[in-house]
Amino acid sequence: MSDCIFCKIIKGEIPARKIYEDEEMFAFHDITPMAPVHFLVIPKKHISNLMELEAEDIALVGRLLNKAQQIAKEPKPTGLGCGENGARFVINAKRDGGQTVDHLHIHVLGGRALSWPPG
Ligand code: AMP
Ligand code: ZN
Repeated sequence: MSDCIFCKIIKGEIPARKIYEDEEMFAFHDITPMAPVHFLVIPKKHISNLMELEAEDIALVGRLLNKAQQIAKEPKPTGLGCGENGARFVINAKRDGGQTVDHLHIHVLGGRALSWPPG
């Protein structure tokens, strides 16, 4: 999608601190980290949000989640070193979910204890 900032990051039109990339996904550090570890994993395919998920993309979301946990738990410098203490995996969807970028993304937050429930 031409006016989507995450599609622009994938295409290299907007800079990002890349962690991982393959033919179907891209992972990068969040520009406004809410924890010492805060990165995003996104599909290269523009999917607006989790609630627009089509049947053909269900397995893709599984692979995104799997890559998210792999990156989170791998020791530094290849991963983010959250294997021992854990992390939070979040997908915000649409207005009430707090989604601000309309391109499906998994947040991974770690490096400190996070409170629950969210505000
Ligand atoms: P959400 O509110 O769930 O839609 O999350 C969108 C996230 O994208 C926020 O945490 C933003 O800080 C992050 N973000 C927005 N623009 C960029 C960017 N150019 N590079 C990295 N992260 C970004
Ligand atoms: Zn997009």
